[in-house]
Order: sequence, then structure tokens, then C-alpha cells
Amino acid sequence: MAMNVQPISTLSDRINQIRLLTAEIVNREILPNENRLWVWNQENVSENEKQKARELRHEIQAKVKQAGLWAPHLPEEYGGCGLSFLEHAYMNEVLAYSIGAASLFGVVAPNSGNQKILLKYGTEEQKQKWLVPLTEGKLESGFSMTEPDNAGSDPRSIKTTARREGSEWVINGHKWFTSNGKRADFLIVMCRTDDPSDDGDRNGKMTQIIVPTDTPGVNVVRGVAVWGRPSDHCEIIYDNVRVPLENQLGQTGSGHQAAQDRLGAGRVYHCMNSVGQMWRAFDLMVDRAMNREVHGGLLETKQFIQGFIADSYIDIQAARLMTIHTAEKMDSGGDARTDISALKIFVPEAFHRVADRAIQVWGAAGVSGDLPLAAMYQGARTLRLADGPDEVHKILIAKNVLKQYHAGDSWDFGN
Ligand SMILES: Cc1cc2nc3c(=O)[nH]c(=O)nc-3n(C[C@H](O)[C@H](O)[C@H](O)COP(=O)(O)OP(=O)(O)OC[C@H]3O[C@@H](n4cnc5c(N)ncnc54)[C@H](O)[C@@H]3O)c2cc1C
Repeated sequence: MAMNVQPISTLSDRINQIRLLTAEIVNREILPNENRLWVWNQENVSENEKQKARELRHEIQAKVKQAGLWAPHLPEEYGGCGLSFLEHAYMNEVLAYSIGAASLFGVVAPNSGNQKILLKYGTEEQKQKWLVPLTEGKLESGFSMTEPDNAGSDPRSIKTTARREGSEWVINGHKWFTSNGKRADFLIVMCRTDDPSDDGDRNGKMTQIIVPTDTPGVNVVRGVAVWGRPSDHCEIIYDNVRVPLENQLGQTGSGHQAAQDRLGAGRVYHCMNSVGQMWRAFDLMVDRAMNREVHGGLLETKQFIQGFIADSYIDIQAARLMTIHTAEKMDSGGDARTDISALKIFVPEAFHRVADRAIQVWGAAGVSGDLPLAAMYQGARTLRLADGPDEVHKILIAKNVLKQYHAGDSWDFGN
């Protein structure tokens, strides 16, 4: 089924045009080829088929670039198409309809988050060396913060250290769940900076450092299996890894703030992707309900199934409007931290419910590899942990709300 995208009357011609062009590529180039594009997920695939899949992906990426749709989250001077957060939200819900399309449009985690950090904290030299080739697809990257022996939900608990020695940082530590770890050419590593001249507080003791993966002492131990399958979320030991001081991102001690900036944008990107995928799950569910006959009638005539359709419609509308509202607030320069936390809880949960209902309507086929629903379900569940578990975001919302009320104000839901 093709995605139905029509102009939105309140949007500018430019952004409507971007949405329509994106939908055209999704409907014409990606959806009919989904089974051929991602063949490595299938059994008994020949080298020839893998090579053809690579070529097909490059062809589609070239068409995306030609249409001016590449890397919507980045400014034009660094190879992106220079959309605002809000414009990106409107475009991304369209591209995310198709599984894996993020990488075909040059906006794929963890590279996208790293690009935002390089943009904000990188020197011009770092941007030219790491950001530009990353955007051009010549390099891959990872973000290495979480550690097996410390709570990832409290990033200030990390134990990985960077010690300054002459003109170098010497890094020692143990990380895991560094996504893209096997493919990455460089990793942005969150370190506790052991620098005598750094008198920062607990947050200010952390610095992000760029580490090329071929540096001696970077030991990618394994991809940690996720949902019972091999993955590229890697366990990595940093053993006396030496990199030049100029590989540091931003000021010494700016690492915690940089992580918050990175994750803030990344969380909204995850939700934009979730909205597009929910849209797809919804279309699949309705289509099946209209065509599958059970117990003497089509599924669409059963009130249980009508309830699934209505509840999913409500979930998608709410998730989509929260995402758009948050993106709008980020563009306006307002403090969007409470909205980001609310979004990061609500959208993955709504996505989880929508994927769950679509699976139920499809029966056994719903959990099969023939449809994208099982992957969506697992992705939605995983998202409730990654980039901060739900509980941590609930604590943040309550903290921000209570702070405002204690200061004598109430909450203004209009802003
Ligand atoms: C697929 C995937 C990809 C990932 N990619 C990356 C990556 O690229 N780079 C990276 O650095 N990390 C990555 N992560 C790690 C992720 O960010 C962490 O898993 C997450 O921050 C939670 O940390 P943790 O697993 O150590 O859980 P913990 O911190 O041990 O927390 C466990 C549970 O405790 C509960 N909890 C935590 N705090 C509180 C509280 N205050 N009150 C009540 N309950 C609480 C929550 O339910 C939480 O799920 C990835 C994770 C996954 C699953």
C-alpha cells in the first residue's frame, strides 16, 4: 500500500513540496524494493544479492540527494538540506513510513546525533575532518557512553577516564551498547576527565573525545545480541587509548551538557521515526481488517477490531501532535526539556501499542519476518530504555513542574 500524503493547508509551499517529494521517493523507490534493499536480514543470501542491494541503496541515495532531501537535520554548508526542527518533523514522519529509509535520507542514528554535536561543539577543523565525511557517507560513527558496570540512566556515574599526558588524552574504560560499533570509523567517547586544572563539579568532570576506531587499544569485544539476534551494539574496552588533545569536543568538562544536547535532539528524532512507523503499522492493520475473513465476516465488521483501529488512530494523532509541538518549541528557542521527556515516554509507548494491535490483527503473520511489524514492536519496546528509560524522564517532568510551582507560578500548557 502506498503512503497517502497530501498538502497540509497551514504549511508553506516549500515544506509541502518537501513532503510530497519525500513521499514520492518512499512510494516509488523504497516500498516496492523493501525486500531487496535489506537482504542481510534474510537467510541464504548470496554475495551477488548483497552487492545488488548495496547498489540499489546507492541509487536511491543519489535520487534523494538530487531531490535536495539529503540530511534534513543539517545546514546546507555541511551537506544537509537545512530544515528547521519543525520542518524536519513534518518531513521525517513521511520518510520513516518505510523501514530503513532513515539511512537512505542520510539521517540515521547514531550518526545524526553525532553530527549535531560536531556541529555545535566541534572546531572548524573537526567539522571538516569528521562531520563533512560523515554527512557524505564516507565515514561511520558511534557514541560510546553507557557502561556495563554503571547505571546508564545516571550518565554521571561513568568510570571511563581520560588522563592528560603531554599533548595526548589517555583513555581507559569499559563501554557497551555502543551502536554501530563494528562499522564505525570513529567513536565519540564520554570520559571522566582526570585533569588537575579542571575544578568542575560532578557534571563538569566529563568530556567527549573523538577516538578513531583504528587507534591502538580500542578493543571491540563483541556485538551484544539484542532480542536474540546478533547486533552492532558493541561492547568496547578502551585500554590506554592515546589520542591528540585536539580530539576533545568543546571545552574540558562540557561533556555532560553536550550529551544532553545530543540526546535531546536524538530523542525527538526517535519520536519522529516512531510516528512514521506507526502510520505504516496503521495502514497495514486497516488493510488486513478489510480483507481477512474470520468466523463468517471480515475483521473490519468485528467491534474488537474497530476498537483497535480507533485506539490506534487516537495514539497516532496524540503522538504526532506532541512531536510537532516539541519540534516547534525547540525551533522557537523555548525550554523544551519537559516536552522532550514527555514525548520520549508517550511516543514509544503509543508506538508499542499500535504495533501490538497491528500484530494481533495479522495473527501469526504479524510476528513473521514477512512484515515489518515484529521489528517495529521490538524497536518500540527498546526505545523505552534507550536514550533514558521512562522512569528517569518521569522524574524530570515532575522536577521541572514542581520547581515552577514552588517558584509561585503554575504551568502554562499553551507554551
Ligand atoms: C538497542 C540499544 C542501543 C543503545 N545504543 C547506545 C549507544 O549508541 N550509546 C550508548 O552510550 N548507549 C546506548 N544504549 C544504552 C542506553 O542508553 C541505556 O541502556 C539506558 O540509558 C539505560 O541504562 P542501563 O541499561 O545501564 O540501565 P540502568 O541505568 O541500570 O537502569 C535500569 C532500570 O532502572 C530503572 N530506573 C533507573 N533509574 C531509576 C529511578 N531513578 N527510579 C526508578 N527506576 C529507575 C529503569 O526502569 C531502568 O530501565 C543503547 C541501549 C539499547 C537497548
